[in-house]
Amino acid sequence: MAENQERIPVEERLGNPRKTIEVLNKYHFVFQKKYGQNFLIDPHVLDKIVQAAGITKEDMVLEIGPGIGTLTQYLCENAREVAAIEIDKTLIPILEDTLAPYDNVTVINEDILKVDINKLVEEKNGGRSVKVVANLPYYITTPIIMGLFEAHVPVENITVMVQKEVAERMQAGPGSKDYGALSLAVQFYADAYIAANVPPNCFMPRPNVGSAVIRLTLHKDRPVSVQEEELMFRLIRASFNQRRKTLVNGLNNSPEISLSKEIIMRSVERLGLGGNVRGEALTLVQFANLADIIAEERQKEK
Ligand code: SAM
Repeated sequence: MAENQERIPVEERLGNPRKTIEVLNKYHFVFQKKYGQNFLIDPHVLDKIVQAAGITKEDMVLEIGPGIGTLTQYLCENAREVAAIEIDKTLIPILEDTLAPYDNVTVINEDILKVDINKLVEEKNGGRSVKVVANLPYYITTPIIMGLFEAHVPVENITVMVQKEVAERMQAGPGSKDYGALSLAVQFYADAYIAANVPPNCFMPRPNVGSAVIRLTLHKDRPVSVQEEELMFRLIRASFNQRRKTLVNGLNNSPEISLSKEIIMRSVERLGLGGNVRGEALTLVQFANLADIIAEERQKEK
């Protein structure tokens, strides 16, 4: 078969709603709400995801939650190799059927949160960077993405369908109502770019929220350097837990931060910010600087 010949022509792929209904009926498939099952039925959106991820025949792609294989078919057509992890065992025989034309895909019947992804990437791609692509189950969006970041999986980019609000929070900067601990956590590891907004009618069944495709391109070099990453993230969480309080009061009241009010006040002052500043006004660089100053002040008190 020629390199650039399609295994399944676009109109015969599952992105066509008629094909999806045919497969669902054939297997008497029952949607499981607890697994966040909303299957894509729009070829334009599928193309857009592949395009946003920049998939080429060089790439190994990790797909989370292939469902009946809708996005997987597009990935198999465009990537070198695909590994797809699906929790629902009733989908496995369906995937064997819908992905039968492809010899570049492995389906793994596991819970993504329990998979050792570093080990999988080592086995499948010799530890070289992979691309992660998914129409994510919305009930575990944050643990999946943060899990990939924190485990330091070699990943070039993560291109995922998420709830629109979550995409906006990931991309937000200081001064926006969407800015929060998730924005800072994501931006510490990656550059976030919203590639498309996707309405509910592009899915079956329709979700009751809007969706968006977001691409997170992992930084080659961290945008900030901080001595104690863990302390910085504790400061971030404490500041946004009490959004309406000043930074000083938010940190002082937080059970996660055991520092005297004097140290907190001195540190905020050393950062060059007034005592009335709120945490939501601080950039990632300022949180990193604050963590370094606090670490130093704490040392002085010992
Ligand atoms: N990729 C398909 C599509 O675009 O049509 C299906 C996407 S659907 C929103 C989410 C998929 O993730 C479902 O197939 C669901 O069974 C699967 N899933 C849910 N929780 C999972 C988990 N913990 N690990 C792996 N897959 C999971």
